[in-house]
Amino acid sequence: MRKDLTTDRLALEAQQTAKLQFMLAQILPGNSFHAHKMAGIKPGLITLETLSELPFTSKEELLEDQARRPPYGTNLTYPIHDYYRLHQTSGSKGAPLRWLDTRASWQWFLDCWREIYACIGLKREDRLCFAFSFGPFVGFWAAFEGAAQSGNLCLTAGGMTTSARLRFLLENAATIVCCTPTYALRMAEIAQKDGLDLPNSAVRALIVAGEPGGSIAATKQQIEAAWGARVFDHYGMTEMGSLGIECVPNPGGFHLLETECIAEVIDPASGARLAAGEQGELVLTNLGRWGSPLIRYRTGDRVIVDPAPCPCGRVFARIIGGVLGRTDDMFVIRGNNVFPSALENILRRFPEVGEFRIEVDETGPLTSLTLRLECQLAKAHVAEQVCEAVRRELLFRPEVILVAPGSLPHAEMKSQRLVRRMK
Ligand SMILES: [Zn+2]
Repeated sequence: MRKDLTTDRLALEAQQTAKLQFMLAQILPGNSFHAHKMAGIKPGLITLETLSELPFTSKEELLEDQARRPPYGTNLTYPIHDYYRLHQTSGSKGAPLRWLDTRASWQWFLDCWREIYACIGLKREDRLCFAFSFGPFVGFWAAFEGAAQSGNLCLTAGGMTTSARLRFLLENAATIVCCTPTYALRMAEIAQKDGLDLPNSAVRALIVAGEPGGSIAATKQQIEAAWGARVFDHYGMTEMGSLGIECVPNPGGFHLLETECIAEVIDPASGARLAAGEQGELVLTNLGRWGSPLIRYRTGDRVIVDPAPCPCGRVFARIIGGVLGRTDDMFVIRGNNVFPSALENILRRFPEVGEFRIEVDETGPLTSLTLRLECQLAKAHVAEQVCEAVRRELLFRPEVILVAPGSLPHAEMKSQRLVRRMK
């Protein structure tokens, strides 16, 4: 009898090992990027235990490789004419990373999305609206095609104003909306201005991606209240694929699709593997995107794996509270490690606060932090209340400046709310 990989951990690990060994044997002859890094490695001897002997891969390494061998670098297993999809990262922190997929690799990406949809209980009659500009960013392209392959009605809502998008999704009775958490809130704000009733619409769920907001309790709550719908947090990235989704019975965290990847959590300083329950950096190996695979990729995302079994019955690792923050976005203030997501979790509890910006100044002897908040009712007491909440929960006092609504940049995709001045 075939074992169920979602509920049988031993069977899952045996399949991960088999897939890893097979993938390495397939890719190493053609892929000079990985062949160079893994010279002397015998694919048949690599197991989940010995995986840690393989070198890490970093984003910097990929960017350097693409700069040295433009435009696509050397992480290509097959001849260039075998590739048929190109996406790239926004490059908000430097050069964009380009990513090519063969037909088979792209299909693997779509299959991951089909598993994600199964996890949130997608029904045949669900209509999905993708409130997203379909540009070179991988964003919801795979989500769209995965849903279309499932036979669901898919609404592309690119190239529209927010008001037009809202009317479009309501007129077509969309039941699931895919967007960033920031844009979910933005749409809710515009809906209110336009007199549109989102809580009583057909929308039953939102799948949010691209930012940690989907697992930040206060942000999630705000979106769910404004839409009258459940929010599911999704995890993925251009170069890795879509590999995480919240399950129905256990909100506030997401499962990794471990049939399609191997997950490790490491101490970012030493590289040593950490146990479930310990906070560290997520390292992923994807098992099906052979056109440009990533082996032991340092995601830069800080996570904690839930040591408790999940009520949904899946044995896939579950990341408690979603991504806590990016390793490179963490700052130290009065001796405490602070992630912007911890501040967002406080700010979103204040309904008066709209868009916000976190300004960290590390140029002086003491790091200082300023919160610039759009406040609908410019009331001084909000600044004092925010300051007090931060002091109580994060043990330092920020400077809080209230600014007029609409004066901070609003993003449809990923918001860049952290501004750092470093020495
Ligand atoms: Zn679960």
